[in-house]
Amino acid sequence: MLHKRFFPQAGSARFKAGITILLSPIAAIRASDALARDLLAAYHPVAVAAAILPADDFREFAGEQFRRNRFGDHPCKWYQENLGRLMEQAIRRKGIKPAELLRPARRESGSVAYCPRCLAQYLKDRSACSDCGFEGMVGFDGRTRSMTPDAGMTGAQKSKA
Ligand SMILES: [Zn+2]
Repeated sequence: MLHKRFFPQAGSARFKAGITILLSPIAAIRASDALARDLLAAYHPVAVAAAILPADDFREFAGEQFRRNRFGDHPCKWYQENLGRLMEQAIRRKGIKPAELLRPARRESGSVAYCPRCLAQYLKDRSACSDCGFEGMVGFDGRTRSMTPDAGMTGAQKSKA
């Protein structure tokens, strides 16, 4: 059994997974997820990167992966959330706060908003990122831009900044 060979010490977890599989055909589909989760913790690119990359390179790589996970639309939410948690752990272990990776390190002059997914910065408020299409722009005043493309009026938001 693959799982046993990789994780001989994970006896009780494996036992529990076995019972769950017996009881539920849906859980049986998940069995591969349980194995994937253990493997991911050790071998996910972010974990590997944490071990081999210099700090700056790791920050860039992990940030990209983390944002893609956080703002991506994975068909399996369970997988997406668990993967996100594992990434956060790996990032924290390197002394980086995950939240730091969700905003640009530097605000370019004149920028009022940015895309938290690809970190593109914009001189004007907009509802969606023209680089990656993400609809959750964040202002440098910390507010999420949730207006519709036609709403246009941002005076109220701006006066607060
Ligand atoms: Zn974007």
